[in-house]
Amino acid sequence: MSRPIVAEVSLPSLRHNLARVRELAPHSKVWAVVKANAYGHGVERALQAFSEADGLALLEFDTAQRLRELGWMKPILMLEGAFEPEDARLASRLDLSLVVHRPDQLDWLVPTTAGATVPVYLKFNSGMNRLGMDARALRSAHAKFCASWPQTLPALMTHFANSDLPGGADEAIAAFDAACKGLPGERSLANSAAILAVGASHGDWVRPGVMLYGATPFADRDARSLGLLPAMRLSSRLIATQTLQPGDSVGYGARFRAQSVMRIGVVACGYADGYPRHAPTGTPILVDGVRTRTVGRVAMDMLMVDLTGVPQARIGSAVQLWGDQLSIDEVARSADTIGYELMCAVAPRVPVVTVS
Ligand SMILES: *Cc1c(COP(=O)(O)O)cnc(C)c1O
Repeated sequence: MSRPIVAEVSLPSLRHNLARVRELAPHSKVWAVVKANAYGHGVERALQAFSEADGLALLEFDTAQRLRELGWMKPILMLEGAFEPEDARLASRLDLSLVVHRPDQLDWLVPTTAGATVPVYLKFNSGMNRLGMDARALRSAHAKFCASWPQTLPALMTHFANSDLPGGADEAIAAFDAACKGLPGERSLANSAAILAVGASHGDWVRPGVMLYGATPFADRDARSLGLLPAMRLSSRLIATQTLQPGDSVGYGARFRAQSVMRIGVVACGYADGYPRHAPTGTPILVDGVRTRTVGRVAMDMLMVDLTGVPQARIGSAVQLWGDQLSIDEVARSADTIGYELMCAVAPRVPVVTVS
């Protein structure tokens, strides 16, 4: 028999979340962000679920090539642009749109048809200080691009550092507007948090990522209240149970000790499956549909759960690590991380099943 862990990815939930983006930003086109293997959900599944998106955005060139081979004909945006000149040639061959966040990336562009090159997104640094040009460099890149490629109009974009905080995007939007003042071209600003909370940022193209997968970009608002459905369910089963006497400890480092007689279950899921090792005792988990808690340290292949409130639990009982009955955001919070990281971390050894 195979190990019982499985990740189920729901195409209807992915589609629902894309529809939610449309509802929130009805006048914008949508770049569905599928970087990092569609946040761990699989780009091929994302391709199926997001067939109605206006474009797909990612940053891995090998995956972009695969998307073309799989038949995606609509735009593909490379969010970090070309890493080296060879990438710009590949972009030209595969008709990939390129972010230009550094002026030297402009020198790598090659013609596609007479006088035209691939669509380009000039990126403004609105305060994140990660990728992007300041206002002066942006305007000079715009002028240079228009002079070199008069048949192609560049788009203008930025990425927010703080759109998950109230008013957190205000300054960045003002800086972007000032930098782009009078420049022709489409605008793209909004990530998930801005799509959900900052209507003024929607512009011509929105760039949802985490919300498409049914997790929240906010620390204090859960995905369900935002109208999103979880797209991934990570489940497994109990493969053993133990009865502890008072003072008995659990797992490596004896990080949990029983106060009284209690039963625990051993779940076939560990950090080598992508479950966070830093999830402390008390992290929520479901056994037989009943909410309980993890106990002791998460190991490579297993973790242990408190069965005090689940007396009917047996070897083979179903366990949900996260999914429709337990939000990935809640587990993430307990492990001092974010849903984004957990979904991206699901390991290759976990079989993934598509739910259509
Ligand atoms: C990852 C990414 C997004 C999507 O962000 P979410 O917070 O997941 O919605 C949008 N834009 C850029 C440039 C990104 O890198």
